[in-house]
Amino acid sequence: MDFEKLFRDQLTELKEEGNYRIFAEMERRCGAFPKADNYGPDGKREVTVWCSNDYLGMGQHPDVVRAMVETAEACGTGAGGTRNISGTVHQHVELERELADLHGKEAALLFSSGYVSNWAALSTLGSRLPGAVILSDSLNHASMIEGIRHSRAEKVIWKHNDPEDLNRRLAAIPEGRPKIVAFESVYSMDGDIAPIAEICDVADAHGAMTYIDEVHAVGMYGPRGGGVAEELGLMDRITLIEGTLGKAFGTFGGYITGSAALCDFIRSFASGFIFTTALPPAVAAAACTSVKHLKRSQLERARQRRQVALLRRLLDEKGIPHMPNPSHIIPVMIGDPVKCRMISDMLMDDWGIYVQPINYPTVPKGLERLRITPGPLHSDDDIAYLVEALNSLWQRCAIARAVA
Ligand SMILES: *Cc1c(COP(=O)(O)O)cnc(C)c1O
Repeated sequence: MDFEKLFRDQLTELKEEGNYRIFAEMERRCGAFPKADNYGPDGKREVTVWCSNDYLGMGQHPDVVRAMVETAEACGTGAGGTRNISGTVHQHVELERELADLHGKEAALLFSSGYVSNWAALSTLGSRLPGAVILSDSLNHASMIEGIRHSRAEKVIWKHNDPEDLNRRLAAIPEGRPKIVAFESVYSMDGDIAPIAEICDVADAHGAMTYIDEVHAVGMYGPRGGGVAEELGLMDRITLIEGTLGKAFGTFGGYITGSAALCDFIRSFASGFIFTTALPPAVAAAACTSVKHLKRSQLERARQRRQVALLRRLLDEKGIPHMPNPSHIIPVMIGDPVKCRMISDMLMDDWGIYVQPINYPTVPKGLERLRITPGPLHSDDDIAYLVEALNSLWQRCAIARAVA
């Protein structure tokens, strides 16, 4: 069997479609973000990063960095075990308390990543609750889809952000079965936001539990960074809130929050929680510092909102089409994988601007885009320069403009 050929053939196919992923090799410099170095064939060169999920620049916040360094020096590097066998450190316990408080819940549980938290929580709920049905928004993240698949529970996909469709589908399920409605708040590729109150109303009417992924909202929305559910005063209507420490909090790891019994249940039965080494104490300490900071400080969120609005306004002035949405994510639509890659390459090579092309399977074919995430550390000049670059490429590459 020629395995090498089997590997190569599929890779060739991917390349021909324009969907082969090329990673940009970056070096982040603390204090310089959103500037970073990009490694190319001629060595490294400074570029501006426009596609980071370190939405608020917390990954280089002096307090967060100091917490990580000081904890590593005080406690060493790794946790040294799973949570059950010698790996539960004081920093985990503190961070879980902080996260439970952030979301107004009794308890929280840490995971290796947001991906793992979704995967482990949904697969445990779906497999351990007898006769469970999971109702999944059609645009849910891969981590939720995989968790549901792994649970082997019955899955019902409802139309994206459509409470009426959810209602019809819930009504068709026998009353006695445990029903779990799984959805996100901010959808990362279109930047649209779920009608959380309406979804909760529908779920309540059918006695379903609600599971929300607030990965792109924690730290960013709500007076204390508790997410969209906090902003709308809806946290107590959600059974389980899931988040990440790797995006706006600028560190690493994932979590769920909910009732004490719910978290204890996942803690006790989730393979993806039990059989893996716990987060390093330094990571937990840094994340805790970041969460605490964003509970108090409005500065980063306010400044980010300003920069998002400014970029949108300048794009509109030039007729560069971007998907309207109420969030911080600005999808600039290209609609072709090869063109999307080409524009991204030209931005990097000719302008020193890094925006990763977003192609299939992250978005459906034909909806390829540049996903731009302005943050509080992008200056007005950075924004003007980005728009100048896009405008010039729109002229050169004859891409359709939005009609004003
Ligand atoms: C990034 C992401 C995750 C996974 O979080 P990580 O901490 O990066 O593993 C989960 N859900 C959504 C919607 C995401 O975009």
